[in-house]
Amino acid sequence: MTKRMVAVGTLGGTITMTAKDNEKGVSSTLGAEQLVASVPGLSALSVDLRLHTLANLASGSIQFEHLFAALTWAKQQIDSGASGVVLVQGTDTLEESAFFLDLYWPYAAPLVLTGAMRSPNKAGADGPANLLAAIQVAMSPKVRNHGVVVVMNDEIHQARFVKKAHTVSLATFTSPVFGPLGYIQEGGVRIFRAPSERAILPVPSQTSDKVLLIETVLDEATELYSALPSLNYQGLVIAGVGSGHVSEKVRDTLPPIIQKMPVIMTSRTGSGSTTNAVYGYKGAEVDLQQLGVIMAGFLCPRKTRLLLSAILWATQGNRQQVEQALQKYLHLYNAY
Ligand code: ASP
Repeated sequence: MTKRMVAVGTLGGTITMTAKDNEKGVSSTLGAEQLVASVPGLSALSVDLRLHTLANLASGSIQFEHLFAALTWAKQQIDSGASGVVLVQGTDTLEESAFFLDLYWPYAAPLVLTGAMRSPNKAGADGPANLLAAIQVAMSPKVRNHGVVVVMNDEIHQARFVKKAHTVSLATFTSPVFGPLGYIQEGGVRIFRAPSERAILPVPSQTSDKVLLIETVLDEATELYSALPSLNYQGLVIAGVGSGHVSEKVRDTLPPIIQKMPVIMTSRTGSGSTTNAVYGYKGAEVDLQQLGVIMAGFLCPRKTRLLLSAILWATQGNRQQVEQALQKYLHLYNAY
């Protein structure tokens, strides 16, 4: 077998976290070299690794600029001969990073995101197994044209579906409704589905437009909605109840917001698609669409916020272009 080259970059996360003297709890200290040194079985693979420590962050503090820098680095690796790239980060925002990077990943070669639920000092730490599996996926000729994938707990998940669904379990990553794209067993990579069409957006020169994500709740106060047109936001995503609904009170605040910015309705349930024509009451999908609200379908609230942000950046906020792009990409993410 010809030797493959895989690049491994680290942004931080539990997988890199150790306890500092006199401090309670762990924080990110390890870099790529130390992580790779802890992986048993790597020397048996026919792979050359290039290692880069990109940052030592907790994933809740990752910003778009870190992701764009990681993207530039990952593209350089493929352009200079890597057959795949592994990016290591914390699991708390892993699903968002995966989807964000997938919007900008133009290569057939895989960009594989991984992390760990248990830090290296814990019994049964999962970092080494996850990193080994991620490298195996990055080497695999079977994982081409799938964009960005997440490898955790021996499963491979597509960026558009993957979700962290448990606070501490090793089996926290799931792809509700669709299931994993594949898995790794005895070092072999199994893939269940053909590649899906993906949105690929231009890397923006500025990322200033902001999108607000609000989860609507029972008997919600409406002050924030009323103030929104005068705040510095260019888009609103609502994590609605059920299949994409809000209360009558919240619904009545939406027309001036829609005048100012696109409003997209998602579901806060965590699984399944919004509906289009089931409910006709005030605040439900038929009424909301008549007001100009866009239904997101299967895309979850957090990923919808990222998609809308990327579209706003790509179109410099031009409303007509934003709506056209939204229609195109939401259709693509709902073509099942
Ligand atoms: N709990 C996190 C993790 O699993 C910490 C983080 O997201 O950085 O990595």
